[in-house]
Amino acid sequence: MTKVVKLALISNVTDKDGNKVEYNELNRCLWDLQKETRDLKNAVVRECWEWYGFTNDYYKLNEEYPNERDYLKKAKSDGTIKDYALDGFIYAKYSKKYNLHSGNYSQTLRDACGSFKNNLKEILRGDKSILSYRADQPLDIKKTCIGLEYDKDTNTYYVTLVLLNKNGVKHYNISDFRFKITVKDNSTRTILERCFDGVYGISASKLIWNRKKSQWFLNLCYSFDKVEVKELDKKKILGVNLGVYYPLYASISGEKDRLAISGDEIIEFRKRIEARRTALKKQAAVCGDGRIGHGYKTRMKPLQNVSDKIANFRDTFNHKASKKLIDFAIKNDCGIIQLENLKGVTKNSEGFLKNWSFYDLQSKIENKAKERGIKVVYIEPAYTSLRCSKCGCIHKDNHPTREQFICQECGYRVLHDYNASQNIAVKDIDKIIKAELEKTEPEKKTEEEKPEK
Ligand SMILES: [Zn+2]
Repeated sequence: MTKVVKLALISNVTDKDGNKVEYNELNRCLWDLQKETRDLKNAVVRECWEWYGFTNDYYKLNEEYPNERDYLKKAKSDGTIKDYALDGFIYAKYSKKYNLHSGNYSQTLRDACGSFKNNLKEILRGDKSILSYRADQPLDIKKTCIGLEYDKDTNTYYVTLVLLNKNGVKHYNISDFRFKITVKDNSTRTILERCFDGVYGISASKLIWNRKKSQWFLNLCYSFDKVEVKELDKKKILGVNLGVYYPLYASISGEKDRLAISGDEIIEFRKRIEARRTALKKQAAVCGDGRIGHGYKTRMKPLQNVSDKIANFRDTFNHKASKKLIDFAIKNDCGIIQLENLKGVTKNSEGFLKNWSFYDLQSKIENKAKERGIKVVYIEPAYTSLRCSKCGCIHKDNHPTREQFICQECGYRVLHDYNASQNIAVKDIDKIIKAELEKTEPEKKTEEEKPEK
């Protein structure tokens, strides 16, 4: 399924020497390309019309239609003669004439050939006149000529378009057309976010000049893969344990296959940041760097930058982790993801993950799951790390170390995170645990689960 979002662009174009391209200069270049596009489309109509006339005459004489390749021949630069299908013939005939990027050029050409063919019947019936294109043509842009960027620091999206071929780059001294995207509402932001994350695929789009607003707009086409949004098993549950050792650990009840996302990257990052923070704090206290007398805010600015870095890191990490989880769920045909309801649970007494937001991770999982038609169910996590996923025994000694799980009843020995995720993957596990606890004798009952799992 393909959809279009209209994006207002603000020029951020620099020439090949890095100088800002003035708005007038940019417009002149893009208007030139619009004229080239108009020219090309009209040439396509002429060539198609001519070929159509020829085939008709040919048919009258021979009672069959001619083969394009027998008649559409052109000499190449090395003198050899090459035969073409109609669109290839037009491509070769006009390609030297324009500054349009070859990919966009062939996109325009194909589209124009297509609309000629689509309209031919109506034209012949006299219901439509022969197509003639006006000067303000939208510029076709192939998907590989569109690059989306996101700047976290300013929360801004940029798009870079490749519009010129080699000659064009030389002529205008511009290689990439970079624009800042004006984002007016949340739904546009969500679309951009998904395009950027690769949840949506960008496809061939159009650059359009709006004369009234005197501004360029990008009609960005994006598509979601219907094949990927396949119907998943509505009863198959993927259990997700969020923890300190592994921020995310997921498995399906009774299955060995698992997804483990390691926290090493976070620990490394944290160490670097803590060191930097300590250094900056000292610096801010001493004020030896010229920030003296500029008030608390100015002195703390470098520290603020550090917090932004942390937020950015967390955002990127959670995006990646949630995407991996959704991919894993789809691969395993899971229509349900079960997460822990974190309300009232302090997951990390450890410190290094103190500011880590599992809520952020969960909301990213929820958003991406919704996109793929996966249901997210929250369960009460109490005792999920102390219960043996094999025999159901709940015992406070089942989880002797941070990594280990050893069942006191049946001796099942496994990585703690895996065992917890196995429990979380069971339907109504919180109700089952409640019932199991009511059955066991008082002395076997464990205390309320400790904060650190
Ligand atoms: Zn057991």
